[in-house]
Amino acid sequence: MRLQDLSAALSDLESNHRLRRRATLASPQGVDIVVDGRAYLSFASNDYLGLADHPDLVRALQQGAECWGAGSGASHLVTGHSEAHQQAEDALARFVGREAALLFGSGYAANLAVITSLAGRGDAVFADKLNHASLNDGCLLSRADFQRFRHNDLGHLEQLLAGSAARTKLIAVDAVYSMDGDEAPLPDLLALAERYDAWLYVDDAHGFGVLGEGRGAAAEHGLRSERLIYMATLGKAAGLAGAFVAGSRLLVDWLINRARTYIFSTAQPPALAAAVETSLRLIAEGEARRLRLAQLAARCRDRLAGTRFDGGASRTPIQPFIIGSDAHVLERAERLRRQGFWVPAIRPPTVPENGARLRISLSARHEMAQLDGLLDSLLQDAG
Ligand SMILES: *Cc1c(COP(=O)(O)O)cnc(C)c1O
Repeated sequence: MRLQDLSAALSDLESNHRLRRRATLASPQGVDIVVDGRAYLSFASNDYLGLADHPDLVRALQQGAECWGAGSGASHLVTGHSEAHQQAEDALARFVGREAALLFGSGYAANLAVITSLAGRGDAVFADKLNHASLNDGCLLSRADFQRFRHNDLGHLEQLLAGSAARTKLIAVDAVYSMDGDEAPLPDLLALAERYDAWLYVDDAHGFGVLGEGRGAAAEHGLRSERLIYMATLGKAAGLAGAFVAGSRLLVDWLINRARTYIFSTAQPPALAAAVETSLRLIAEGEARRLRLAQLAARCRDRLAGTRFDGGASRTPIQPFIIGSDAHVLERAERLRRQGFWVPAIRPPTVPENGARLRISLSARHEMAQLDGLLDSLLQDAG
């Protein structure tokens, strides 16, 4: 893309209803947000447990900064790795029931790191068609043979595994799919990984804090195999920022030596790491929050079932309201905004062509009546 092409390309995006713009919040993240001086009821964050502005977490971050300063000042392998980071890693490993864990600046960085550290030229990576973009980028960057299987289609995956002569094989999936809220069949995937001597890499960005009493999708299924690599982000239900990878000590030692986004990147502020244990405590004590989320999800499912907007059976806080056309989804999101609801319109390429949708994200802080208000408005308008 040349400099002189940018303006026309942006106009093209605009006329195709594909131009992206940011909303600037004038409030902390939460269910009540302020954008451009107007208050909205938001169904648009990944702060599923409502921890992003929890007073205990804010205090932990403040105390962490007082104790450890603002910046880490170096990468982990130089002098950026503090006791705060180490304690957070130990606590995270214990929390998800694995031998060791490694902190990353973001889930995106973790996905690039793990896949490229384990798979290279001559190897093969197998990815679900609906995987998050960061997993796909990791697969591409690895230079391994990149094979995509139909969404949650174990037969197709097995066919691809059986047909591959690669020495190292890695299967990568989202535990909870970020645009549909449905889940990967982790026990069956692990069985396939065992049968074909492959790694199973699980990105639990949307399950951590929510599923398995907060310990995530792999813990919910009691999966502990050494070939299962678990990744979760700390910026969603955990209310902070960053991510971690958990698995065997051996795996973590390998990542410390090979993971480029770990080695060539400044460590997260230690204050953030110092707040991780508070976040884990709030997650562990969050049974009432998870119960509320489950009730909200069930209501959403019940009310959308049988309508043409039904996006399948999600029991998670991600509830898709399928519309189809890009123009219609934008129009619908705009109409909701005029009624005081903030719900994001998701368009291709984030979702498949003709799969434009409103993505309703639930929070434990939503009242049932608030969700009903949104659904009343959406279903009335449906005509
Ligand atoms: C959000 C997300 C990521 C990226 O994590 P960040 O910490 O936001 O970089 C990775 N995978 C999935 C499935 C996600 O939803």
